[in-house]
Amino acid sequence: MSVVPTSFACERAREQVSLSLDGELSELERRLLDAHLARCGACQAFAQEVVAFTEALRAAPLEAVREPIVVERRRRLPLGRVQVAAAAALAFLAVGLAGQLSASSEQRPALSRFDDSPNLSPPASVLEREQAILSVVRPGTTLPPPGSVL
Ligand SMILES: [Zn+2]
Repeated sequence: MSVVPTSFACERAREQVSLSLDGELSELERRLLDAHLARCGACQAFAQEVVAFTEALRAAPLEAVREPIVVERRRRLPLGRVQVAAAAALAFLAVGLAGQLSASSEQRPALSRFDDSPNLSPPASVLEREQAILSVVRPGTTLPPPGSVL
């Protein structure tokens, strides 16, 4: 069998021989191939060998596989790490949203979680004195001397 085609026309004809065996040639391509094979002995010999080999291969009985064929999965480490991180972020987000939804479904005011906390605000008397000081002292003015009564 001549493996190396001698010209572009021969190369195309040998590709068409293969396509013809699979029934993938149009009528025009089939006639062009036949015309080339009629005048090119090398391609005609190539076609006869390929057709005979293909017919023998297709006629051969199928063989059972004696050992199992194992195809190993490709390792995808970088992408796998990204997927794990994304899944963890989504899980964290889902837990946070679930917590927010369950808290809001209880119809509690937003500050109710501070009900049991100690009150750190100063007494009302202290707030009133601070308001009195702020009413007298303005930005840019000097402070009264320590111990003076407002
Ligand atoms: Zn040829």
